[in-house]
Amino acid sequence: MMKTCLSALLGLAVLSAPVSAHPTEDDPASAYFLANEAILVSAGETRILFDPLFSVSYGYPLVAPDVRAAIMAGEAPFDGVDAIFISHIHGDHFDAPAVNAYLAAHPDVLLVGPEQAERDMRAAEGWDEAFTARIHALPFIAGTQELVLPADGEADAITVEAIHIPHAGGPGRAGIQNMAHRVTLNGAATVMHLGDATPDAAIYAVHESHFQARTTQHAFPPYWVLGEWGDADTRTRLNAEAVTGIHIPINQPDWLATSGEDYFTEPGATRAIPSHSHDTPDSQD
Ligand SMILES: [Zn+2]
Ligand SMILES: [Zn+2]
Repeated sequence: MMKTCLSALLGLAVLSAPVSAHPTEDDPASAYFLANEAILVSAGETRILFDPLFSVSYGYPLVAPDVRAAIMAGEAPFDGVDAIFISHIHGDHFDAPAVNAYLAAHPDVLLVGPEQAERDMRAAEGWDEAFTARIHALPFIAGTQELVLPADGEADAITVEAIHIPHAGGPGRAGIQNMAHRVTLNGAATVMHLGDATPDAAIYAVHESHFQARTTQHAFPPYWVLGEWGDADTRTRLNAEAVTGIHIPINQPDWLATSGEDYFTEPGATRAIPSHSHDTPDSQD
């Protein structure tokens, strides 16, 4: 939405070239870690947030109060957010009144998430019927669900391919609609956020055609998936070129630091996301 350069805002290399609507080699897409499973993904002018507003710790880090205030206020780097994504309704991912307040404060932002999230929002403080037109509530079904969303004046800036992957923890969590969102920004950078997905490999085998339908440049599985499978198998099962584990507890397990896998543990950490390798860099606006 705004012609600002996220790289500069994040304190990375300041670019002299004008910001392109499409990521280029000089201005790649990037992921910026907030806490737990909260991530800002930026590609050119297109910005999305995963699981950004939650209020319950359950032993996992909360988003720092100043960062949460910046999200709510739409201050850099949270200005120009086009859509927020909710993986599932657990309190360490989602706070219905806070999301209502966010949508009220940012009338251009869209929301994608499980229908359970919309139901919670409707019952929560701050609900406004006008939100309905901006919410893409995904039914609790097995197959892939596709959405094409506008951003920054482009009708198809954001492509979403979402699938229900059961929540980790077995049958006791079967009633929770946990969505794995594969999101392509500006046709050039594809990321995947899996919420609290199970590490049961059989589930991913069932959905192999979904994962093979599009290569993900960077996937963000919960740490228990990456810890159990390792980097190579995780990339293979998710059809992802790179993976970074999220949802790291405050008391980090001993094996994490020596595992050799990549995890987001520090708020403000970033990862560059390369464009599709078959795409030639361009400078379109
Ligand atoms: Zn959960
Ligand atoms: Zn969780």
